Amino acid sequence: MAENYEYDIAIVGAGPAGYVAAIRAAQLGLKSTVIEKDEVGGICLNWGCIPSKAIIHQARIFSYRDELLDMGVKVDASAFDYESVYNKSRTAADRLSKGVAYLLKKNKVPVIKGYAKIQDKNRLLIDDSKGLSARNIILATGSAPRELPAFAFDHKHIVSSRDMLALKKLPGRVIILGGGAIGLEFAYILNAFGSEVTIVEMLDRLLPVTDKEISGALLQDYKKKKIKVHLSAKATGCKKSANGVELLFEEGGKASSVTGDVLLVAVGRSPNTANLGLEQAGITLEKGFIGTGDYYRTNLDSVFAVGDVIDTPLLAHLASKEGELAVEAIKGLSTPKRVKSDEIPYGVYCEPQVAGFGLTEEQAQAQGLDYKKAVFPYRAVGKAVATGEIYGQVKLLYHAQSKEILGAHIFGADATELIHELLLAKKGELLPEDIAAMIHAHPTMSEALMETARLAEGWAIHI
Ligand SMILES: Cc1cc2nc3c(=O)[nH]c(=O)nc-3n(C[C@H](O)[C@H](O)[C@H](O)COP(=O)(O)OP(=O)(O)OC[C@H]3O[C@@H](n4cnc5c(N)ncnc54)[C@H](O)[C@@H]3O)c2cc1C
Repeated sequence: MAENYEYDIAIVGAGPAGYVAAIRAAQLGLKSTVIEKDEVGGICLNWGCIPSKAIIHQARIFSYRDELLDMGVKVDASAFDYESVYNKSRTAADRLSKGVAYLLKKNKVPVIKGYAKIQDKNRLLIDDSKGLSARNIILATGSAPRELPAFAFDHKHIVSSRDMLALKKLPGRVIILGGGAIGLEFAYILNAFGSEVTIVEMLDRLLPVTDKEISGALLQDYKKKKIKVHLSAKATGCKKSANGVELLFEEGGKASSVTGDVLLVAVGRSPNTANLGLEQAGITLEKGFIGTGDYYRTNLDSVFAVGDVIDTPLLAHLASKEGELAVEAIKGLSTPKRVKSDEIPYGVYCEPQVAGFGLTEEQAQAQGLDYKKAVFPYRAVGKAVATGEIYGQVKLLYHAQSKEILGAHIFGADATELIHELLLAKKGELLPEDIAAMIHAHPTMSEALMETARLAEGWAIHI
């Protein structure tokens, strides 16, 4: 007997995973609703990607002071007020959150304000009182800053990324535990606005997600900016005092410490799986994340999970794509089973930027692949010289015989925009020779991509 459900799909969480899934469902004629306990847009729009990029943009403008000085223009920064930077970041976040609310309304997706728990494969309970039934459920509850017991957040001296984004005044000395994307972006911001920054990273390099060569270039740049970096440094504890915090760590077998006004703990994020009713509903967790298989289906046939709450890279665009694929599968469309791991771009928006996708050189080596690389420096690109953005490089990895693109990593101005041409080439199964043969407008930074591809083909013109 066919059961009647209130909705085709009920989605828990209106972040990039949930709200995009809801709109895609509406486009496909599925009746859906999204349940959100806070603001629509999730962490990304409200306390992640968007406010951080709004602040980074202003940090970059602030750092142009030296270039203006070269032109004889002295900027008097004595009245600089970080609160106006904060305000602009909130305006951007609010505007986009309202934009998402508008889009959901336009697509006739009702947003239910409340905290949802799953009761069984077709039922949710909202705020422990109101029930709701749906043929399918998508869990898109996202993640929260990972908290380490030895460095528990007090939200004053030991803070999370969210606390940092809520600051109206910047601290003078900041210690950042973790040299991943979030830590690096805050290091860039704080340094640009004049704070003293020390990064303490457990691994032997910054930004482990990227290629080692690119990571090395990034390290040099951070050192040039006078950001102190301790690598292979294991944090062992911290001591709080009335006006700051001392981080204790071991580096090269020796005990060391650094003192700051604030310790930003940026050591990753934890999936929001607690208090969701998962256990009662019989949903399996894997390494703390909701376990999913093809089409992001959990072990319950009608329940899906997408975004930061599952064990895939914590990226907003990936969360959205997973949401789309799950909905398309529910609709019965022929859609990829999962996003291919080598087609996921990443970006770090410090300046110079870092972006990439696919294999790093170390991964190609570890897999025993017969690969080749082409590395082209920004300093040989006309536009880079004209704009003074010569510090950077494009690295392309490709199969030695078939020339298939295996991965690409860019360090330098506009990297987060440039990467997409190479990714499109990979997705379209193009080869370096195709990029090499395509006319690129002059002068543009994109010429660096053409020249990298030509380097792979053995005929780069400008090097
Ligand atoms: C400082 C910072 C900068 C970042 N910058 C970038 C970047 O530049 N690029 C990038 O790709 N990624 C970035 N990220 C990561 C990105 O924000 C996440 O990958 C993305 O938000 C994940 O989307 P999501 O929908 O899975 O989860 P979230 O955005 O976390 O959304 C989940 C939503 O679910 C709601 N929710 C949770 N539980 C319940 C419940 N039981 N009932 C109802 N509602 C619930 C939450 O309130 C939230 O709104 C950044 C993150 C941070 C912290």
